[in-house]
Amino acid sequence: MNTTNKLLAFDRDHIWHPYSSVINPPPVYPVASAAGTRIRLEDGHELIDGMASWWSVIHGYNHPQLNAALHRQVDDMAHVMFGGLTHRPATELAARLIEITPKPLDKVFFSDSGSVAVEVAMKMAIQYCAALNQPAKNRFMTVRGGYHGDTFGAMAVCDPVTGMHGLFGDSINQYFFADKPVIAFDEPWHADAFAGIDAMMRKHHGDIAAVIIEPIVQGAGGMWFYHPEYLRKLRSLCDEFETLLIFDEIATGFGRTGELFACHHAGIAPDIMCLGKALTGGYLSLAATLATDKIALTISQATPGVFMHGPTFMANPLACTVALASVDLLLSSNWRTTIDNINSQLAAQLAPCADLEVVENVRTLGAIGVVELKTAVDMHAMPQLFVDRGVWVRPFGRLVYVMPPYVISDADLTTVTSAIISVLQEPPLMQQ
Ligand code: PMP
Repeated sequence: MNTTNKLLAFDRDHIWHPYSSVINPPPVYPVASAAGTRIRLEDGHELIDGMASWWSVIHGYNHPQLNAALHRQVDDMAHVMFGGLTHRPATELAARLIEITPKPLDKVFFSDSGSVAVEVAMKMAIQYCAALNQPAKNRFMTVRGGYHGDTFGAMAVCDPVTGMHGLFGDSINQYFFADKPVIAFDEPWHADAFAGIDAMMRKHHGDIAAVIIEPIVQGAGGMWFYHPEYLRKLRSLCDEFETLLIFDEIATGFGRTGELFACHHAGIAPDIMCLGKALTGGYLSLAATLATDKIALTISQATPGVFMHGPTFMANPLACTVALASVDLLLSSNWRTTIDNINSQLAAQLAPCADLEVVENVRTLGAIGVVELKTAVDMHAMPQLFVDRGVWVRPFGRLVYVMPPYVISDADLTTVTSAIISVLQEPPLMQQ
């Protein structure tokens, strides 16, 4: 067996991949290196990346500026504990995040992954209500079709049907689910679309610590783009009942939707915001939960006088350094025009998919292109069809979608969209 086959055999026998079976694992492709928008496999085959490694690698792989920042930092220190110590990478990154996120967000809690940032947000909301002597407000309201992560708190606010509620049963807290926001981003708004969540809040606000939602784009729960007015109405509703509003911008943050943060489409601010994924340009795992002064002070003034969370790798200096370099790289670029151009190209080139027999709907927003199919794809067969065409696109369920690194060239993006059209014409690709 050559060494690549040995690696694959070991992987197959011993390593879990995301949402996979060890009995019938889907194919995995061994990556030797990646640079710019190219993923290079061990056999030398190159794939154009259409996924930005799950929304995160916005500047492409192996970026010289990000590499240089990491090289500098690793010579100073790779890590120190954050209990009792602090450092420039954390303070400078926190200052930048406060500067670029909506005004009332003024306090930053660093953690290691998006799911943990969501747990932290939920814990902040509960501690805040407890501090206000409202301990009954310890549940959450959200909408169907959402996704917030795989840990227990986060799972409890993921879509109860497509999420993991059935499997984990009573281990998952039962919260309030309003209907999914049905009006698409660019459709005319009508007030009926808010009636369900409005009524639910009026009935249950005494139990609800916070509403948590992905602003504008429901990502892993269905790649759905909904109307900004929904968020404006939600902000007013939360204000009326003094309920906190948490925006999970883990997938949408840092320009992906055409605004720096998706909440900018609605012109409103949350009380708590979760960031992750593209925060480090996809280099290292880092997340942040930002909160208003009012929340932080209220928590800190009540017993036990502290916010109860503190991960080992909190504010890891390498991760903070590369995050600051990535954010600055983004801000110094012409990102708005870049995203607009990607959007125009995705919209024009994916439009013909709508005529294909298997396709239900085609939609784009910012640097996200989605082809929704009528039935779920065969995850064992389909990725190979893309690899055969020299691109990396990984569908899930009924969704074939792209969200490339922002640095993708017109020609490479054309190869990706052409591959999608060609693959969708190939039978048999659907789950039997
Ligand atoms: N929230 C949203 C909106 C996400 O898209 C994700 C990841 N897909 C998460 C939370 C969880 O992040 P992580 O995988 O880093 O835990």
